[in-house]
Amino acid sequence: MINSPSKTSFLLLAATAAFFAVSSQSAESKGLGYSNTPIIPGTQWHVHDGDRPQPRLVQPGETFSHMAPAPADAIVLFDGKDLSKWSDGSGGAAKWKIQDGFMEVAPKTGSIQTRERFDDFQLHIEFATPAKVDGNSQGRGNSGILMNGIYEVQVLDSYHNPTYPDGQAGALYGQTPPLVNASKAPGTWQTYDIIWENPRWDDAGKIVKKAAVTVIHNGVVLHHRREYIGHTPHQAVGNYNKPHESTAFIQLQDHNNPMRFRNIWLRKLGSYDHPTESH
Ligand code: MG
Repeated sequence: MINSPSKTSFLLLAATAAFFAVSSQSAESKGLGYSNTPIIPGTQWHVHDGDRPQPRLVQPGETFSHMAPAPADAIVLFDGKDLSKWSDGSGGAAKWKIQDGFMEVAPKTGSIQTRERFDDFQLHIEFATPAKVDGNSQGRGNSGILMNGIYEVQVLDSYHNPTYPDGQAGALYGQTPPLVNASKAPGTWQTYDIIWENPRWDDAGKIVKKAAVTVIHNGVVLHHRREYIGHTPHQAVGNYNKPHESTAFIQLQDHNNPMRFRNIWLRKLGSYDHPTESH
């Protein structure tokens, strides 16, 4: 059956309307991120793609590992009293503030990092984004936990704060959004329990074991032994082109937001059938 002119016009109009609806929606969500960045290998998404699906929201339980006491074989990196285990980027004293059992980023004093390097480890760390909401997207409650200073697990205020999914709280920055968004409200203490495996190269400089991470946020799994594609630069795809030691220091990022951290401890994982090597 041939469509009548009026029916054809209607269909055309409907199709045109649908096209513009999709286009404007697409343009809006692009506002969250970037569309001119490289495609992330193994995905259909650009680095920081605003159109990538937003992880679903999960309200975490009230507490999980909050103020969890360190196990006997843990290295306590911060007990609320001093920053002796931390330095600035060049080995000098860390300049962040300490008060009431937590440390707070002193914006523009720079990121801080552990003085020690570690084999594969289990890390417990707690953070709070500023109670007074200031800014949005990547400008709100931004910090980061960067293994070796180059493999970031994002720290961000992702409580009703849309941003590109591979940059929200718990993302492997620029690579893998968290499975879900388990963020708590601004000013509330939150926990990350992280299991980290260092990357390794052979003697010829070829990567033979990629960095991998497991992240539990407020008792909710965000990643389960997820591999990094490489280091985590902004707006670019990372790689493993620069072999480094198979140990890592831990860096906490100064991203100009007065983020707070407390109760930080770490256990070396050791390996199976080697009961004495983990100390
Ligand atoms: Mg960050």
